[in-house]
Amino acid sequence: MRSRRVTRSGLSRSGYRGSAVPAGILAAAWLCGACAPADPGSGGDDGAGAGAGGTATEAVHFDFTEVVPGVYHAQGASDLVVGSNAGVVVNEEDVLLVDSHISPAAANALIEDLRSITDRPVRYAANTHWHFDHAHGNQVYPPDVEIISHEATRAAIAEGRSNSGRSYELFVGAIPGRIEQMEATLDTLTDAEARAELEATLEAQRTYYAQLQEVVPTAPNTTLSERLTLYRGGREIQFHFFGRAHTEGDVIVYLPDDRVIITGDMLTGGLPYMGDGYVNEWIETLDRVKALDFDWIIPGHGAPYRERERIDHLQAYLRDLWDQSVALHGQGVSAEDAAGRIDLTAHADNFGGISGPGANPVAVLRIFELLDGTAN
Ligand SMILES: [Zn+2]
Repeated sequence: MRSRRVTRSGLSRSGYRGSAVPAGILAAAWLCGACAPADPGSGGDDGAGAGAGGTATEAVHFDFTEVVPGVYHAQGASDLVVGSNAGVVVNEEDVLLVDSHISPAAANALIEDLRSITDRPVRYAANTHWHFDHAHGNQVYPPDVEIISHEATRAAIAEGRSNSGRSYELFVGAIPGRIEQMEATLDTLTDAEARAELEATLEAQRTYYAQLQEVVPTAPNTTLSERLTLYRGGREIQFHFFGRAHTEGDVIVYLPDDRVIITGDMLTGGLPYMGDGYVNEWIETLDRVKALDFDWIIPGHGAPYRERERIDHLQAYLRDLWDQSVALHGQGVSAEDAAGRIDLTAHADNFGGISGPGANPVAVLRIFELLDGTAN
């Protein structure tokens, strides 16, 4: 459990995920598989900074870890819900931010907190993919900021898919019900500390939901289909599309001289959300990622890490999930029944939260849609 901390600003930094509130109530607020309904507590965002080198800077809402000189991992560290990580690349004259978080409030907080590590202006931003928790801060950037994404990501945001559909409803549509549940739980709590903690969480959720109402989905203004390269000062910054994976337009940011990749949710601290994924293609896309020369992985959620074998572990999980799903689909089993029968316990050592048979129902439903040709 993450302990309560007090920052320089005096703000409470009690972690949302570290709360004493019953886990069922704290279902995910964003598209991180580690937070997905069937995998509570798996891998995920805990252990911030674990394994990451470099110095850590605590700002008001974010912790910045300098992974290599000039390249930072920014992770939300206050009650402000930010959703994803951000990658921060500080160049000689400007800054690139990779992913814009879950709301204008979160994106503005990052820009303010950035001043604790650099005074250079943000000239470039990127969306690794179209999910709301990585792209719904785009509207705060001035028009002269280039927001870079894959062309499919731009299309998805322009078409309104980042604030509608199954995944959005699953995570954002569930918030009012979750708030009601917390209110009901609060009525039953007598322990003062537990009450205070739940009240803080409840307040953060109410604030978060209000902040979501301010979102105006804003499409990137610069796109790539396969590759785009920026040369900023002495640094080369490559944007690659290696194939479909977590979504149809996942971009990997590769810093060849710094030997860092910033991956979005193609890789996360635990199991990524798969409800919009292309599970079988994802495995091959990761093979192309592994062909890059790098030391550090900055994932879409969770702490930076160096262990390349964690990519192998995800590929093995995806392959097993896909193969078992295909077999059950072929037998005419429903997606719902298949999700109960699929056994991924062989991967329990690599991914927390796997304590018995069963797979994430949304992931299995998605695979069945892919097999049926009905996936969007
Ligand atoms: Zn995502």
